[in-house]
Amino acid sequence: MHILVVEDEPHLAELVRAHLSKIPFAVDLAASVDEGTALLRASRYDAVVLDRGLPDGDGIELLRLLRAKGDMTPVLAATARDQLTDRIHGLDLGMDDYMVKPYDLGELTARLRALLRRSGKALGALLNVGNIALDTVQGSAEVAGKPVTLARRQLMLLETLMRSAGRVVSRPAIEASLYRIDDLIDSNALEANVSRLRRILQDSGATVSISTVRGVGYMLAEDKKP
Ligand code: CA
Repeated sequence: MHILVVEDEPHLAELVRAHLSKIPFAVDLAASVDEGTALLRASRYDAVVLDRGLPDGDGIELLRLLRAKGDMTPVLAATARDQLTDRIHGLDLGMDDYMVKPYDLGELTARLRALLRRSGKALGALLNVGNIALDTVQGSAEVAGKPVTLARRQLMLLETLMRSAGRVVSRPAIEASLYRIDDLIDSNALEANVSRLRRILQDSGATVSISTVRGVGYMLAEDKKP
């Protein structure tokens, strides 16, 4: 899951990012309406957490921008303004939920999960290929019903490959879903993550394999039964 957090208070932004990264969600940060606009044009997100009081305007502008182009990405507004009129205004514009600052990080997570479930992302929340089951909202994986411990990157890699099981996923597409925009992408990092994931799946008796398609990318597919 790829989340955009728009928040101009650096300490809070980092706290939210650190918290959501553990779930694991990939989080991009924007500190202004301008930065948020640029990121929303460049990437697709599964949900947006929006601060309203930004240095260059009201974060609600970003919500307006999304909805104007028919983009129904769930938006949760976090705001210091708890006046009823502000909330009604936001809800009228298509805001999905709101929290009043200061908010609890656990509550933020719970509300985000609820939004992702409601938005139909739920349809793809539980992925199954072969004997692997992946809960993309909880960030947990099982092979043949037994929990498997995976690092955040490996979980995201597995999710990306499982969503396109049986099809080749290009390296750039994998990298886009795996790394935040501000992470440096080292081409060896992806290979290393794929090798590690392969080994873990093999060791846990998974009935799927990840094959390398030279010069293109990777494909996860269920092993043919003998
Ligand atoms: Ca603010």
